[in-house]
Amino acid sequence: MILLDGNKLSALIRKEMSINVMDYCGKNLKPPHLAAVLVGNNPASQAYVRNKIKACEEVGFASSLIKMPDSISQNELLDIVKELNQNPEVNGYIVQLPLPRHINEEEINLAINPTKDVDGFHPNNFGRMALGMPGFLPATPMGIMMMLDRYQIPTDGTHCVVLGRSNIVGTPIALLMSKKTKPGNATVTIAHSRTQHLAELTRSAQIIIAALGIPHFVKEDMVSPGTVIIDVGINKIEDPSHPKGYRLVGDVDFEKVKHKCSAITPVPGGVGPMTITALLQNTWKAYTGVF
Ligand code: NAD
Repeated sequence: MILLDGNKLSALIRKEMSINVMDYCGKNLKPPHLAAVLVGNNPASQAYVRNKIKACEEVGFASSLIKMPDSISQNELLDIVKELNQNPEVNGYIVQLPLPRHINEEEINLAINPTKDVDGFHPNNFGRMALGMPGFLPATPMGIMMMLDRYQIPTDGTHCVVLGRSNIVGTPIALLMSKKTKPGNATVTIAHSRTQHLAELTRSAQIIIAALGIPHFVKEDMVSPGTVIIDVGINKIEDPSHPKGYRLVGDVDFEKVKHKCSAITPVPGGVGPMTITALLQNTWKAYTGVF
């Protein structure tokens, strides 16, 4: 079984990127600049943004964090987005999700300039992805594709079952896996909360991509020998033996399933770091204009 180590692979790719940044920018050019807008005090969002800022430092990018209170209004947040769209110092930016309930996420997403949309959530970029045109791919699916590519996991002609149909993970990764690309060329089934006979489907898959947000959902009896499993889930479960009182687990029952797999991502340390590395790559593309 190959452990698809997102930490190790990310460290390698980020090292390559830092060399590119030094070569390209030298002493005279300003480095790429990623900005992040963080609204409220959601601890998970705070941790994600912290990791993104830290990753920028690792590769030699500039970064800035715009922290706003939960009480921010729709118009105030739209004003920040407009400012970032116009700020020539900022090459790309993200508005960390989820946003408070009173904020209309769709309206915020639509206001982001697609040329700075390094999360790849704007319909312009989503449409480009669907049509196979250059643009920003959403960071998590892009990170998964990078991982399959670098580990040289064969995908051509395989049956890939994607669990989950969200706009940020399930639907785009299903689309990318079905494209006439490498990795890609898979026959894809998208399963969701209404799917019947799920275990039969997953047992017929050579690749399973789990993005449901349900801890340990994929069990041993749902997986055939030799399957490749990409576990996107990040779930907090109580664990009194852990200093924090909880730990993070994926959507796959890793310990029971791993011996059946030919390759599997751990949680944490699998797709998570790859997502951030993909975000850095998108920022680099925004900066150089080369896609
Ligand atoms: P979401 O809640 O938007 O979507 C969940 C999907 O799972 C839905 O489409 C739903 O139909 C499907 N689903 C629910 N029950 C199901 C069932 N019984 N069988 C099949 N499908 C079922 O979630 P999301 O935003 O796509 O995130 C999914 C998970 O991935 C979460 O744990 C999230 O924290 C994690 N995530 C991780 C990263 C990362 O970088 N590693 C990035 C984004 C999301």
